[in-house]
Amino acid sequence: MSAPYDLCVVGGGIHGCTVALFAARGGMKVVLIERGSLCREASGVNAGTLTMQMTRVALIPYALQAHAMWASAATWLGHDVGVVVCDGLSLAFTQAEADLLSYRAGKRREAGAPIDLIDAKTARLVEPGLGPGVMLAGHCKVDGFANAYLTGLAYRRALIEAGVTILEQTAATDVQRSQGCFEVDTTGVRVKAARLVIAGGVWIEGMLGWLGVTLPIKVLVNQLAVTERQRPVMRTVIGIASGLLSLKQYPHGTTVIGGGWQARGDRDRGGYELLPDRLVGNVRLACHAIPALREARLARAWAGLEAETRDALPAVGPVPGVPDAYVCGSVHSGYTSGPYLARLLAERILGREPAMPLFPIDRLLHPIERAA
Ligand SMILES: Cc1cc2nc3c(=O)[nH]c(=O)nc-3n(C[C@H](O)[C@H](O)[C@H](O)COP(=O)(O)OP(=O)(O)OC[C@H]3O[C@@H](n4cnc5c(N)ncnc54)[C@H](O)[C@@H]3O)c2cc1C
Repeated sequence: MSAPYDLCVVGGGIHGCTVALFAARGGMKVVLIERGSLCREASGVNAGTLTMQMTRVALIPYALQAHAMWASAATWLGHDVGVVVCDGLSLAFTQAEADLLSYRAGKRREAGAPIDLIDAKTARLVEPGLGPGVMLAGHCKVDGFANAYLTGLAYRRALIEAGVTILEQTAATDVQRSQGCFEVDTTGVRVKAARLVIAGGVWIEGMLGWLGVTLPIKVLVNQLAVTERQRPVMRTVIGIASGLLSLKQYPHGTTVIGGGWQARGDRDRGGYELLPDRLVGNVRLACHAIPALREARLARAWAGLEAETRDALPAVGPVPGVPDAYVCGSVHSGYTSGPYLARLLAERILGREPAMPLFPIDRLLHPIERAA
């Protein structure tokens, strides 16, 4: 007897939702299992930056395609995620930062990102709100941000329209392969499907364990803060060469301050503890870049869990040794690039040749070869 679903996706973040959406639109009968609500972990609490200047060089071609997807979200997603396309600046305040910026901008430009190096005077024309002390800036016109909080709502509507069965508040607990299909045990019903996608964010390590595959995943616990509303004080996305700042003001006046400052968190037990010293460091840096932020008060701070593989490149492709099982996640700056990578995986699952190579995990399953 054939399985009731062509595809079961476990994990309803940006990766799982996008694979489910495009597989369903490609004609598959899809079920999506999410432990909580759609896009309420990393995909709903992230800083929303859609940037080339923080994206790893190997991912630039993917990020450019993904940026175009975000910019046209109204067309393919059909629902608003508050995307603003604007200029982005990566700042250097010291000679060491300027050297780093020149090197990284050069590499990203070689990979296709339209980044120019500009002096402080030109940077101030792009962003009049800049503070003093800027030596050099990377300027990219393909930048912007979305409102991550809207992601789950937008995807839920799109998935329902595409006919995907969504099982929220339902945790997958185990998977067996039986008679050519996958049987997924959950805290609710048992789900049977011909194909399986593991898209559980930082939790893919445990999920792959159900299939007998060991893929260590590092957990980053990123802190973020948001200000109260204030008058317009900036019009670009701001970062710094070291990567420890991301800053943008939303149309309604709040500014989200981030950059990967680490809190403490626990993947298995849940929850996180903010580290005030680091919050202060992050906010100081933000006020140094855009001094008018000193007028604002912080409204809230939080943290979320981001997944990283050993080589910091994505885990997107088939699961070795398990026919019809796939993994999709651990994409650095995954909110920016995730939709495109996940769409490529959906193409592969639908039996088509993806327009760009995937990132199979075979490379991560062998011991690191050390140079003699
Ligand atoms: C604080 C923070 C800021 C960030 N800022 C940016 C940024 O500005 N720009 C950018 O490009 N990227 C950013 N990122 C990275 C980006 O958010 C992530 O790469 C991306 O959202 C990961 O998506 P995902 O679908 O892989 O994981 P997630 O969004 O974590 O989704 C995984 C889902 O799996 C579900 N799940 C777990 N266990 C089970 C189970 N047993 N059964 C069913 N479901 C389960 C979870 O509930 C979760 O919803 C940030 C990340 C964080 C944490």
